[in-house]
This record gives sequence, structure tokens and C-alpha cells, in this order.
Amino acid sequence: MNIHEYQAKSLLKKFGVAVPRGRVAYTPQEARHVAEELGGAVWVVKSQIHAGGRGAGRFKEDPGGKGGVRLARSLDEVAAEAGAMLGRHLVTKQTGAPGREVRRVYIEEGCDIKRELYLGLLIDRSTSRITMMASTEGGVEIEEVAARHPEKILKVAIDPATGMQGFHARKLAFGLGLEGKQVASATKFMLAMYKAFKELDASIVEINPLVVTGAGQVLALDAKMNFDDNALFRQKEVEAMRDEAEEDPAETEAGKHGLNYIKLDGNIGCMVNGAGLAMATMDIIKLYGGEPANFLDVGGGATKERVTTAFKLILADPKVEGILVNIFGGIMRCDVIAEGVVAAAREVSLHVPLVVRLEGTNVSLGKKILAESGLPILSADNLADAAEKVVKAVKEAA
Ligand code: ADP
Ligand code: MG
Repeated sequence: MNIHEYQAKSLLKKFGVAVPRGRVAYTPQEARHVAEELGGAVWVVKSQIHAGGRGAGRFKEDPGGKGGVRLARSLDEVAAEAGAMLGRHLVTKQTGAPGREVRRVYIEEGCDIKRELYLGLLIDRSTSRITMMASTEGGVEIEEVAARHPEKILKVAIDPATGMQGFHARKLAFGLGLEGKQVASATKFMLAMYKAFKELDASIVEINPLVVTGAGQVLALDAKMNFDDNALFRQKEVEAMRDEAEEDPAETEAGKHGLNYIKLDGNIGCMVNGAGLAMATMDIIKLYGGEPANFLDVGGGATKERVTTAFKLILADPKVEGILVNIFGGIMRCDVIAEGVVAAAREVSLHVPLVVRLEGTNVSLGKKILAESGLPILSADNLADAAEKVVKAVKEAA
């Protein structure tokens, strides 16, 4: 799960991570009010969407205008900039062409930036350790730094038995060229960030940029946090920060029904039981020259209702031109699946080719139900056959 920058900053602040003062606003008037309360002479108005690259992004409604992070030098300017963002669509490198509607802005005190650095925490799967990464190339996407200047990325892998220690943080601080009291300030920052990561079951915390101010303070100017969905049951505060407007409605709907659905860009919808089989199904579709439209694991205990919901989700995607159902009936019985498929196909008035491959318990009964349904369902005998049939059917229908 993702949250907004202002939410990430409020969580991190509780753990002692230094962040500028700021507050969220939903209207230009509120933005002005927040700026007035914060005081000072310079504010930054920041579009809150679940995507990075906002500063360099442009609004779809005003492509020649300024980006999604703007400086304001008076209360009138704060209100005007908030008004120019709210309700408009911000297009960044990460949003794709349609952009994301800005529904909230964050008003923050303006910072006197001397240096922009990068700091990130993530789980490194190759070492199975939480790893802190730092770089002097702040404000630049870390993937870009990794591709062009891998030597500029400093890393420390943290032993879960000891947790992050002062020496880990000092090593990174010195590597970043920090000096004097900046080192102590950065060390405190990093240890607090690690504590937040662990205690909140985060999967990513990224501070880009981490800045050193003119006064030598180390501050998080931007903050991105992702969380492990499987741990949300014990992270009520994080769960409450969910912004459904930022999430794919189909994925949200799927989650409510216990379906594991992830939308992709292709045209062949997949309905599979088991994550491993779902991955294999996507692979074999690609092997036969097709492109999967989604990943969908209906789970082990798929009922008729679940199968129907899954069908509706797949068909709600306008890109879908064919469906492949690939179910292995172990605990599930193939006849139950077949009934679900038939009922769902009738209910949603199927308008694309449907290939079904069933295997396992009660398979012959399942196949009989499909054959006798009178629906134009193509039955397949194995995975390769199924993939070949659906790719061919989609090509023929086009
Ligand atoms: P994004 O990464 O989505 O573009 P950031 O929060 O990193 O958004 O902001 C982009 C840039 O705007 C930063 O690199 C920084 O230079 C500037 N900026 C952001 N917040 C502030 C602030 N409070 N004061 C001064 N400059 C800021
Ligand atoms: Mg940033």
C-alpha cells in the first residue's frame, strides 16, 4: 500500500525524523489559512498524488505552465497556486499520459537548500537484509543513478539481529561528505528512519531529496513510503491513510472479494488459481505471442460467486479481447469451477472468446458442464494448448 507524502512525513516525524513544518489542504482558502498559520515568507505548494516526479511534471490542463511543486512568496500566491493544482491532472514520468487528479495539496515552509542528497531503505532480496542506500545525487531517480553512476550509491546491509547501529549511519554520513554537526544530525535521522521502517512494516522508505540546509540541518524534503499489505492488519494507523481515489478501482474491488488482481497492459484476461500457476500462465501466453491483461489469482477456495466477480473484473477492462481460464482442481472441484464459469459467462453476457483449461478433481464432469452449456467456450487439454488457442482466437476475432 502507498500513502501520500504528507502522511509519510507525519509518520516519520513521530519516530524523530526531521521534516519541515507543513499541513495538508483541500481548497485554496484552506491552503492560505495553513500558510498563515505556518508563518514565514516562503512556502512550497505540493501536489499530493501517489506518484513521484511531481516537480518536473506538468498539468494536462496547462501543459505550458509550471509543475506540481511550486514556490509561493505571499498568502495570495499560496492560494493561487493551490487553485491552479486542485482538480487538475498532473502528468509525471510515473503517472502515464492520463495523469492523476490532484485532490489535496501540501503546504510546507520553504527551505534554504544547500545540498540535495538521496536516502532510501528497502529490503534487498539478494541479501535478505534491510538495506540503507545513500547517494550524493539527490533529486535524481535512484534507478537513473544506478544505471549511470553505480559507484555513487553507498549501501549498508543491516543484520536483523543487531538492527541499525550508529556506525552504519556514520559510514553513510561520511560517505555523503557531511561534516561537523551534520554527521550527528544525519545519524539521528537515519536511525529514526530505520526504526519507523521496522515498526511500521514498511517495504520502502525513500527520502529524495534529503537536504542539508544553510544552517546545517539535515531534513527530509520529500518522503515516499510503501507498506507490506500482509502486515496491514496490525498497522491500523497506516491502513487508515489509504486513499482509495489513488488506487486502481478494479484492484480495490478485487481485494474486497479476496481476489489477488493486478492489472497489466495486454489483451488476454487470465483467471487462474494459485499465484505460481498464474505466473506460469502469463509466461506461456507470452511464449505464444500474446500479452496478458492481468494477473488474477482466485485463490484455493474459489466459489461460484468469486469466479463470477473475477469474470466481471476481467471484462470491465476494455482492453480485454479474450479470456483464458486455467484452473487446477485440487481442493477445488472442477465441476464447481465449470458451473461458476458458465453462470458468470451468462450473467455478464460474454462478448470475447473464452478458453478454459481444467485439470484435477472431477475434471470430466467439469468438461461436460462446459460442453453442455451451449456457450461458445473453447476447451483446452493442457497449458500450452490453452495458450495457443486463446492467442489464436483473439487474432481471429480482431
Ligand atoms: P517530486 O520528487 O515528486 O518531484 P519533491 O518533494 O522531491 O517532489 O520536490 C521537488 C523539488 O522541489 C525538490 O527536489 C526541491 O528542490 C523542491 N522542494 C520541495 N519541497 C521543498 C521545500 N519545502 N522547500 C524548498 N524546496 C522544496
Ligand atoms: Mg522527490
